[in-house]
Amino acid sequence: MRRARTVAGAGLTRYLGLPSTIFRDGRGEKRSLDTGLFIALLNPAIALALAAAFLMLWLYQRDRPYLAVLAVAYTCSATGFLLQYFVLPIGFAPTKFLSNLSFAIAACCLAGAIVARYGRLTSLVAVILLAFGGLACFSWFLFVQPDLTMRILTMNFAFGGVTLVVAAELWVVRKNGPAETILFVLSLVSGLNFFVRTIVLVEIYGPFVSYDGFYQSVYWTTAQLSHALLSLLTALCLFTAAALDVVKALKAESCTDPLSGLLNRRGFEEAAERLLEVKSGKSMPLALVLADLDHFKSINDRYGHDAGDKVIAEFATRLRSGCGGFAIAGRLGGEEFAVLLPACDLATAQLFAEGVRSSFRRGPVAGLPANAVVTASFGIAMRTGEESLGQLMRRADEALYQAKKLGRDSVRLSYQRPETTFTPEAFRAT
Ligand code: GH3
Ligand code: MG
Ligand code: MG
Repeated sequence: MRRARTVAGAGLTRYLGLPSTIFRDGRGEKRSLDTGLFIALLNPAIALALAAAFLMLWLYQRDRPYLAVLAVAYTCSATGFLLQYFVLPIGFAPTKFLSNLSFAIAACCLAGAIVARYGRLTSLVAVILLAFGGLACFSWFLFVQPDLTMRILTMNFAFGGVTLVVAAELWVVRKNGPAETILFVLSLVSGLNFFVRTIVLVEIYGPFVSYDGFYQSVYWTTAQLSHALLSLLTALCLFTAAALDVVKALKAESCTDPLSGLLNRRGFEEAAERLLEVKSGKSMPLALVLADLDHFKSINDRYGHDAGDKVIAEFATRLRSGCGGFAIAGRLGGEEFAVLLPACDLATAQLFAEGVRSSFRRGPVAGLPANAVVTASFGIAMRTGEESLGQLMRRADEALYQAKKLGRDSVRLSYQRPETTFTPEAFRAT
């Protein structure tokens, strides 16, 4: 049985075209190919594949540097595992040091990429201190006072500490979505894997005094397999999180008007419908303000289309700064805008519209001569009962039409008695 495995392994050597001397164990001695080699190659192969995948993702999304950091993390992890198995000409101990240096860099990059994704970089110092503190202790037990068991314990505890720091950071964002929840659980499981598995196996099979049979030991086999599994699951989560980021960005892009930076018609209608649909929103007073720039065609004709664009952007800035963070503001098309003001009655909405109207009229507007006056007209409707967005828009549009008809540069209201009255409870529930 043993012989059969060796023959199969030797076949693989020939197949891969690798020189037989490359397969030396941790002590630099020649060893035959067996299942241990397949397990040993499992982690570098997985890590390199994941590194390539993250690199490809980053090449397509250069604005997400954490993807490049993940590619570096998985490359270092692959290097670390390869150096566990293949001794470099620099010697056994320096190779072991390089291997663990690669692991330490991989741990810092992986932890850094995860915490950076959530903008929580303060814990990175703790991560670096733990990883390189562990490496310093490891080096002591490698070069000064050689002790394999202590080397195992120091590196595992250091990486366990790193994963628990990441878990503590993810605790805050664990409810953001399924990817965050799973990442949080995975970092906890990794922490347990580093601490509990190491302590239990060193207790049962240790102490390890030399590398004799070490790479076939239960400790090493479980370390390899658990790492392979956890790194695959972690990468899968990170891929999902990156994909969701892209979907969110695309969604935001498809709902945003690039010229004004406001929501476009689709984004405005979706956000407004959502606000009207929420239970608390149904009994909350809401006012819709529609605005349209006056004689805008002649501004384009007189000053050019580019100057017209600047006027649109300027008006959008004034709308945004006037309405506050809770309002939904959009450019419905051309030179028409809408603002849905929650918890707002007709009088408050009128104050807002008058403020924007007079400030816009005063100017100045970039791209236009200092004495140029641009004005806008406004129509306002306050929601009554369970009026739909369409009905509300129609009434606000009628008021806007009145403003245009009566000379422009003014604010007109749509008066319609509310069917239900506003209750303070409904407002508190928002
Ligand atoms: P009123 O006071 O009655 O609203 O007159 P108006 O000229 O503003 O309205 P009209 O609908 O006749 O013309 C709107 C103009 O807005 C016509 C179109 O060329 C211009 N426009 C639409 N979208 C854009 C844009 O994105 N940039 C620029 N510069 N102009 C635009
Ligand atoms: Mg107009
Ligand atoms: Mg118009």
